[in-house]
Amino acid sequence: SSAVPKTLKIGLIPGDGIGHEVIPAGRKILESLPAEDGLKFEFVHADAGFDHFKQTGVALPQETIDLLKRECQGALFGAVSSPTTKVAGYSSPIVALRKQLKLYANVRPIKSVLPSDKLTDMVIVRENTEDLYVKEEKTYEVDGERVAEAIKRISESATKNIANMAFRIALQRYNSRLADPESTHLKGKSIVTVTHKSNVLSQTDGLFREVVRSEFDRQSSDFHSKVELKEQIVDSMVYKMFRNSSEFDVVVAPNLYGDILSDGAAALVGSLGVVHSANVGDSFVVGEPTHGSAPDIAGQGKANPVATIRSAALMLEFLGYPKPAARIYKAVNEGLLAGVVTPDLGGNYSTTDVVNDIVSRL
Ligand code: ATP
Ligand code: MG
Repeated sequence: SSAVPKTLKIGLIPGDGIGHEVIPAGRKILESLPAEDGLKFEFVHADAGFDHFKQTGVALPQETIDLLKRECQGALFGAVSSPTTKVAGYSSPIVALRKQLKLYANVRPIKSVLPSDKLTDMVIVRENTEDLYVKEEKTYEVDGERVAEAIKRISESATKNIANMAFRIALQRYNSRLADPESTHLKGKSIVTVTHKSNVLSQTDGLFREVVRSEFDRQSSDFHSKVELKEQIVDSMVYKMFRNSSEFDVVVAPNLYGDILSDGAAALVGSLGVVHSANVGDSFVVGEPTHGSAPDIAGQGKANPVATIRSAALMLEFLGYPKPAARIYKAVNEGLLAGVVTPDLGGNYSTTDVVNDIVSRL
């Protein structure tokens, strides 16, 4: 079209390890979108991570937060190494970033592509700000032994936010499969499954369940003709997800269950190297591959860039550009099916080979 292209300013935060290989891959793909998509990009580098902490004593510099808030519409975050034993003064920069930018939802789509994948087309929508992850822990002594405890906090407002995010995604999935029924095995109404353990935790998970239900009930009748609400206790959810993932559509869960379910679900489809996510708030989105910094393969040119490339597409979706996002997903899937893949998926192509192949398919 002849319309003036819209320019998006995107922060790039490689972080540690293979973050330095996969973030440039994501950037390259965005830059290679055809002109007809009407998007232009400006990229700005931002620091964060364990290496940065070792050099400067700060894991997430204030400049990074300010830069993102002031100048960018979205960002791509690579990975940060997380030391398994506590390092004084260090805490995860992505957790801090989620808080600072009010990214209250973590959205992780899991969709089968390869013949070896389990038939799956689901999205896990995980609450990102509270539950056990408020990190209010203490240790004390009772009768000569140490006892440790942690606060599990669930609030009405955070639960409303996450419920409405799940409903918005469910509606959008309903509409997109109406437009393209061949794109998925799912048919008819979208289903949101709320996952909890309210049979045991009647107050915390009980509140989560109740608020999701009442938010659902207040939607319009048009919405109710397109989206259905179901529920599943988290332990049987795990069982069912592995037995028959094809029956799930949108899953909404408090922070901890969502964390566990989403890493588990990644096992249904190939490798950690292909699973993408986004941290989403009302005014910002950060695309983030699910994997870590993979120190064992860092610097060797064999990191799988697909998770980051898909995260870039998911970021575009949340920024309101589903068309270029769909173009990226399609090119990625074609490359996977053609076997142009890195060693984690059994191939012997390099990161750069995979990126170039996807660029040529765009
Ligand atoms: P971190 O401390 O950053 O979490 P980690 O080693 O605990 O690092 P991951 O980085 O998630 O965790 O790696 C787990 C395994 O999966 C490693 O063997 C790694 O090489 C592999 N892996 C992760 N991401 C990729 C990728 N993008 N491409 C190829 N292999 C990957
Ligand atoms: Mg890890």
